[in-house]
Amino acid sequence: MSLHGAYDPDNIFAKILRGEIPSVKVWEDDDVLAFMDVFPQSEGHVLVVSKTSQARNLLEIEPEALTKLTAAVQRTARAVEKALKPEGLSLMQFNGEAGGQTVFHLHFHIIPRWADRQMKGHGHAPMADAEQLQALAARIAAELD
Ligand code: AMP
Repeated sequence: MSLHGAYDPDNIFAKILRGEIPSVKVWEDDDVLAFMDVFPQSEGHVLVVSKTSQARNLLEIEPEALTKLTAAVQRTARAVEKALKPEGLSLMQFNGEAGGQTVFHLHFHIIPRWADRQMKGHGHAPMADAEQLQALAARIAAELD
């Protein structure tokens, strides 16, 4: 999948947004959804997507939707920090297959970091336990401003 081309309405995040497959939601409003990555690279790995844009990558998103998305990333990251007390946060965002992207609906990764815990590689993390993800999502959601 190159940087250019048509949006696939059957990509996995589009299906999550339509409620066709489940996700562990942290929060949502009319514009964005924050949900737990099921293959977390560290404890508390959250994804944030636009609900209104069909941008596949950063190059395609409308400025207004990007403004709302980045504000949502900051709001979510602040809640992750309060809930999980990481020592750092890695924000990641991949564009195009060659850029490491695997799901072609633009998204930001929020990955809590601790100096003494190695972050798992992108695409190399095992699937998380659903109940543990639900518990983490609840802790993060409880700290939203
Ligand atoms: P990227 O490679 O940047 O496109 O990231 C896609 C992310 O989506 C990866 O971190 C996957 O672990 C994650 N992922 C894939 N399927 C699901 C799913 N059903 N629910 C939540 N996260 C998912």
